[in-house]
Amino acid sequence: MHTDPNCIFCKIVAGQIPSRKAHEDEQLLAFHDIAPWAPVHVLIVPKQHIESLADVGDDDAELMGRMLTLAPRLMKQLGVSNGFRTLINTGKDGLQEVPHLHMHVMGGPRPWTKG
Ligand code: AMP
Repeated sequence: MHTDPNCIFCKIVAGQIPSRKAHEDEQLLAFHDIAPWAPVHVLIVPKQHIESLADVGDDDAELMGRMLTLAPRLMKQLGVSNGFRTLINTGKDGLQEVPHLHMHVMGGPRPWTKG
């Protein structure tokens, strides 16, 4: 599996940086965002290092499907019952800060601090 030793999310996947985990399986990790916009704000990341959505190809279709289908399951588990937002920032103009593909999933009662 491709990983990047300098990548903060690869370090979280490896357990070298602590995180509040919400889900883990062979391919994916979900953990709570350190600066949440909403009462529930998790990041779903592939364990392998993919820099951004711009680097995804046909071979990643199953992985991307898994990321997307995990979102509603996680929100349900975390008690979110009134809808949620999903967001993938991609590249510089997409305001991606961490160069490891991740999907924000945010929910819970409003008002939120952002978004
Ligand atoms: P983006 O702008 O889409 O790249 O978002 C990166 C997200 O990662 C931001 O919402 C940050 O708050 C979050 N983040 C950065 N470092 C950590 C960390 N160590 N643990 C949890 N979330 C983090």
